[in-house]
Amino acid sequence: MKEGTLYIVATPIGNLADISERAKEILSEVDAILAEDTRHTGKLLAHLGIKTKMVSYHDHNEKGRVPEIIERLKQGEKMALVSDAGTPCISDPGYRIVHACREEGVSVSTAPGPNAALAALSISGLPTDRFTFEGFLPPKGAKRTKRIEKILASDCTSIVYESTHKIQKLVDEVAQLDPERKLFIARELTKMYEETLHGTASEIAKQISERKGLKGEIVVIFERVSESKN
Ligand code: SAM
Repeated sequence: MKEGTLYIVATPIGNLADISERAKEILSEVDAILAEDTRHTGKLLAHLGIKTKMVSYHDHNEKGRVPEIIERLKQGEKMALVSDAGTPCISDPGYRIVHACREEGVSVSTAPGPNAALAALSISGLPTDRFTFEGFLPPKGAKRTKRIEKILASDCTSIVYESTHKIQKLVDEVAQLDPERKLFIARELTKMYEETLHGTASEIAKQISERKGLKGEIVVIFERVSESKN
């Protein structure tokens, strides 16, 4: 491992056995772990028997933390950045510190691993040659509708993260705009209640409504426009 390097370390999205050997090695050897939630990461570290010190690094303190972290890295410390689940920086904190490292000539390296978007896409059966990651949609209003319309007009497969309390709203919105559009939904990947649903937007909207919602963590994959219209 290199001195003065920030390691972006992916952690499991559910099943703890998905942590890589390299991720474990880096987390045990760095001088500090920047963690989105130190309590959450503390449980993972306890499970792995790792005692490295943690520093809290999340959406609300990242701006203030960056100069101090850059300084420590420049002094030669090795640090790892982790989020609560999956790959840091992907709908998770991290962008600011990585950007600052690039600007300041500090080395950044990766310990790649779990990511919910790619895990869902890879089992969706929808085209994977070109895709767009949309992250979380705007929560409401014209911005949300516009984004959904843009996704429906896209000639790439689109990947969206959605929360349990908005999944019915999302599939209803899609069913209204394009009832025949095929959707793939992946829920609780790698966990005990892992489940996938696929069908047209109107079929899925009906299924979810009959089940009175869908619990857990959810990825929605939209078929691209050319496939539906052919
Ligand atoms: N950085 C993470 C990654 O690499 O996937 C994503 C973090 S984002 C805050 C959390 C969202 O990812 C959830 O709301 C859900 O949409 C998706 N997600 C995370 N874990 C998941 C899982 N086990 N199954 C399905 N979706 C998951």
